[in-house]
Order: sequence, then structure tokens, then C-alpha cells
Amino acid sequence: MKTLDAIAAELQGYDPQALPAPMVDAFLARLVQPVAGVDEIGIADALGRVLADDVVSPVSVPPHDNSAMDGYAFDGGQLKAGAPLSLQVVGTALAGKAWQGKVATGQALKIMTGAVMPAGLDTVVPQEFTRPAAEGRIEIPADVVRPGDNRRLAGEDLMAGRPALLRGERLGPAACGLLASLGLPTVRVVRRPRVAYFSTGDEILSLGEPPREGAVYDSNRYTVRGLLARLGCEVIDLGVVRDEPALLEQAFRTAAAQADAIITSGGVSVGEADFTKAMMRQLGDVAFWRIAMRPGRPMAVGRIGDAVLFGLPGNPVAVMVTFLAFVRPALLRMMGCRDTAPPPLLRARSLEAMRKKPGRTEYQRGIVSTGPDGGLQVRTTGNQGSGVLSSMVQANGLIVLHHAQGSVAAGDTVDVMMFEGVA
Ligand code: AMP
Ligand code: MG
Repeated sequence: MKTLDAIAAELQGYDPQALPAPMVDAFLARLVQPVAGVDEIGIADALGRVLADDVVSPVSVPPHDNSAMDGYAFDGGQLKAGAPLSLQVVGTALAGKAWQGKVATGQALKIMTGAVMPAGLDTVVPQEFTRPAAEGRIEIPADVVRPGDNRRLAGEDLMAGRPALLRGERLGPAACGLLASLGLPTVRVVRRPRVAYFSTGDEILSLGEPPREGAVYDSNRYTVRGLLARLGCEVIDLGVVRDEPALLEQAFRTAAAQADAIITSGGVSVGEADFTKAMMRQLGDVAFWRIAMRPGRPMAVGRIGDAVLFGLPGNPVAVMVTFLAFVRPALLRMMGCRDTAPPPLLRARSLEAMRKKPGRTEYQRGIVSTGPDGGLQVRTTGNQGSGVLSSMVQANGLIVLHHAQGSVAAGDTVDVMMFEGVA
């Protein structure tokens, strides 16, 4: 395990007081390791889990050559350009019930989609292309099929002995179906990371407490819980912890003992009169950053015991933005994912001008829609205050104004990180 100083020494131009957002990823990639530990689970429970090993296909899929259509199977070598072909129908092959007899030259077999192609037959003419001929015969008009048409080859989806999926694959619905198509009842996946979360701040109320002057209800605990659930992490909810050294110490120690990662919100900004930063410093190897970004400038990062710490700012929007921009890719790495890159950004035409200074990354809450020309367009939600959580609800993505980018004119194309599936 590298110390924060050792990681910092590897990054050219590292300045914790003015850290470019792209460097945060580079730093966290060095700090965060995949969790050890594997679960063997049923395919029905595998959605969102990450493969611990390559899955080598024990069988070929499909296992035999089979028909892609309802029609007639025959030896395509008999087709002649410009000429119809008349064949005698000798039987029927159904899906799951192979034809046992022989099909000779001049003969065809009625065949259903998915039925095994008997040896020697390589072509299927769809039913609707054929013309009934004399009793027990069909006629294939000239040039409606070519040899090999409408036949699915054994192993064309997956070949026995080849890797069907690679370790680090995060299993989506298609991958779960694919594992089932191999006949595998269970799969080995990386253990889900355990993430402990608590909110800090004397002004933060838990649900159920009566309102009091100057206090606000804890929303961060619920947004973070939702963001973690989307990732498939196990959440350890440690509630709201007041600004008291003994309580903070206990919360951090409990979290570090149980969790692979600790996420907190609040108490990391400059000039905070609370004890959160002091306790992080006392218990762990922690750096306090001022990231060149908006919103979400202050953030604490490091290790307490064996757990990775993400000390997020308190503002509800800043919590979500820093989570999506930095914590999510880091947790994907912890989950053992091969692909930790954020989902590809969309390009959309901005309906508004946006003022922006080069030298920091800005995230504006955006509403993406399809414009009259069919292309994507985006407008902001208006008020971009970092406490305005309703704007995150209205938005369907974040407009990303990159570090070096300057102001945007109406009509310019901008990058957007969509929330779908992540936030
Ligand atoms: P801080 O980073 O502690 O200075 O907090 C910044 C702002 O976010 C303050 O207005 C806090 O009241 C608010 N805030 C902090 N934590 C939470 C929370 N858990 N839920 C809702 N608002 C919060
Ligand atoms: Mg505070």
C-alpha cells in the first residue's frame, strides 16, 4: 500500500491546494485497490456483480447448426442461377426434436426455427418464398436463396473452450443471459465492497427528529445510499455524527473496522470550525484537497486503517457531483471492474450561453432533450447553487465544462454526463 506522499510524488504538478479534476482520477487510481474475496452466486442474483475470473465456455452456443427460419432445409449445392428448383419433402424437423432420417439429393426437409440441420443440408428456404408444387413437393423460384442462407452455425455465438466473458466484466442483463446460455447455474464474482457512510455537522437532523432553528434534515445520507445502491455496493449506514471528537472518533473507528471504504459528508471545507478534519488527520493518512472544480471544491481523501476515505463536502449538490466524478470510478475499481471509465459523454447543443473561466472543471445541471432537428440539445436548470437539490432532480445530466475550456456561447456543442443508470 502506497502512502499518500508516495502517490503525490508520482504525479507531476500535484498541488493539493489547486488540484485539477483530471488529476484526482490519477491519484485515486493509485490509492484504490480491488477488494479481495470471491462469492459464488446463482445467475439470478448476478446482475451488477463483477466477474472474478474469465468464464470459459464449456459448450458451443448454439450446440448444432440450426435453422434461422421456418421453411425447408436442403443441400444448397443443387441451386442453379436463374433456375427454379423442385424438391420432394420427406419429413419435418421441429425445434428440440431432430429429424433422424436421411435427406437425399432432390429432397428437402420441412424445418422450424431452431431445429437442428441434418448432416449434409446447409441451406433453408423460408416457407413464404416457396410455391407448392405437386403432392409432397415444393418449388423454390429462381434466385430467392443462395447456398448457406438461413443457417445458424454451431458455435457462432460462443465456441466451446474460448473465453465467453472476461474477469472484471460487470454483469448486465445480456451477460446474465449469456452465462445462462452456457448452462452455468452459478458464477464466481468479486465480493461487493462494503461502504460505510455518515453525515457530519451539528446542524444536521435525522429523519424523525423535530425541526429546530438553523437545522436541516440530512439529505446526503439518502442520495449517497442511492448512488451506492446503483453501483451495487453494500452500505453501512452510520447515521449523523455530531461535531464531538469522541463521537467522530468512534464513528471513524467503527467504519474502518467494518468497511472497505468510508464516505462522509460535511466538515472538510476551509475554515470549518468542526473536528472532522482533525479526527481524520489523527486517525489516518489523509490529504485535504481544494479541487479546481465547481461545485465540490473541498474534499478529503486517504486511508483510515485499511479503509479508503472519501471526505465529501457537505452541500447536497457537491456531494452528488464529487461522487459521480471521482468516487464512482474509484469504487468501480474497488469492485474489480475492468472498465472504470465514466459512461461516454454525450455531445449536445447548448441552448444557453455559459460563463466559464479556464483552469477549473465546472458541472452544470442540465436538461437534455431532442431538438427540432433531431439532434441533442441541452439547457441548464437555472439556479446552480450547490445546495439546490431540486435542480438535481430536474436535471437528467451534468454539463461538463472541462478544465481548459472557456465560456460557451448559445449554439456551441458541450459535453454532458447523463444520470441514467448512475444517479
Ligand atoms: P459543510 O461542507 O459542512 O460546510 O456544509 C455545507 C452546507 O451543506 C451547509 O449548508 C450544510 O448545512 C449542508 N449540509 C451538510 N451536510 C448535509 C447533509 N447531510 N444533508 C443536507 N445538507 C447538508
Ligand atoms: Mg459543516
